[in-house]
Amino acid sequence: MPEGPSIVILKELLPSFKGKKVLSVEGNSKQDIKRIAGQKIIDFKSWGKHFLICFKDFTIRIHFMLFGSYRINERKLAPARLSMQFKVGELNFYACSVQFIEEDLDTLYDWTADVMNDDWDAKQAKKKLKQQPATLVCDALLDQQLFAGVGNIIKNEVLFRIKVHPESNAGALPPKQLKLLVDEARNYSFDFLEWKKQYVLRKHWLAHTKRTCPRCEIPLIKKYAGKSKRRTFFCNNCQVLYQLSAIQV
Ligand SMILES: [Zn+2]
Repeated sequence: MPEGPSIVILKELLPSFKGKKVLSVEGNSKQDIKRIAGQKIIDFKSWGKHFLICFKDFTIRIHFMLFGSYRINERKLAPARLSMQFKVGELNFYACSVQFIEEDLDTLYDWTADVMNDDWDAKQAKKKLKQQPATLVCDALLDQQLFAGVGNIIKNEVLFRIKVHPESNAGALPPKQLKLLVDEARNYSFDFLEWKKQYVLRKHWLAHTKRTCPRCEIPLIKKYAGKSKRRTFFCNNCQVLYQLSAIQV
């Protein structure tokens, strides 16, 4: 599943389509995609893992889910969910969710919750975390209302980087670790963006899919942790478990 930085990369690949009219539309989406024909693309935006194609009266929201993909000016053998032809080329989206948004995006999306957005608000994220002290940090990082754009890779790497155990309660983190959690969710996302652009993202993974802790040189734990039950890689030795006492929970 593409995480926020991958959606930013897609957005950055498309300036030549901005302001261009969609000449024809195809695809197996069950939505009324024919209404896109003849419309001009005003802008491309992203919110977390949502890719947004903005037209004058509506927006198309693409979510790549688990197996979604795209091709620019080329095609896959598989049938496209949404395919748009322009004078300058074509955009093809596969195995993704396509939805129409009629509302104003500013009323629908909290841009301050998107870790890649210029409007990202770290204070707001800290405040939201404090309101749910019992939440495990591995779940908190995947909560798109808190950290839109963060996915499983970023989750694992951020927690390893800041030496916090994934099953720590958000409300038990000392102020320094809480600040690190929030700040590194954004910092790591930008590192991810740069590494991904240079095709060296995997090379920089320290914990995600790894067997050995590079700090302690002992085996890492792999566990489907938290309510989210996503693959979690961590070191029991150098990642500190911060827990609320039974009374606090
Ligand atoms: Zn370790």
